[in-house]
Amino acid sequence: MDYANYIKSVMDFPTKGINFRDITSLLEEGPVYRAAINDLAAFAESKNAEIVVGPEARGFVIGGPVAYSLGIGFVPVRKPGKLPREVATVSYKKEYGIDTLCIHKDSIKPGQRVLVTDDLLATGGTIEATIKLVEQLGGVVAGVAFLIELTGLGGSELLKDYDVLSLINY
Ligand code: 5GP
Repeated sequence: MDYANYIKSVMDFPTKGINFRDITSLLEEGPVYRAAINDLAAFAESKNAEIVVGPEARGFVIGGPVAYSLGIGFVPVRKPGKLPREVATVSYKKEYGIDTLCIHKDSIKPGQRVLVTDDLLATGGTIEATIKLVEQLGGVVAGVAFLIELTGLGGSELLKDYDVLSLINY
């Protein structure tokens, strides 16, 4: 299926000069959403993933259904102050300023095989921070999966040591 047909591109969002790839138009189409999740789940299964990790917020919309369809767990990665139990944290540089992401410290067992997923790979900062959290806890990144990869922004270079699947490339 050509998933790109279901992505809407929005110029100058959220700021001037950005061509935002809107995944919500794909999510609205049930059979397409399901097919995309099935493809990502098949990849996770082929890598023997035992648990799925995704950053807020759109990583939940991808990672949750992938985990559900495989009957494995889902672990949310969130901004500070959102997770109630003890957390591990990683800070990373964004275009403007520093961002921090957190994960429950006891959510992944050492040696557990993890599928890391998000809706979109751009510079790779978000997914790199998420991978650092997984590896801090002793998890093994079995694969990294996206709905969309924006090529030429450096993301794939950061992930060169991992098995990566992107359903759409721009
Ligand atoms: P990165 O950290 O790789 O530079 O940016 C990826 C993160 O920003 C992802 O969590 C993603 O949700 C969000 N993001 C950046 N640009 C876009 C875009 O054009 N469309 C969507 N849906 N998300 C984006």
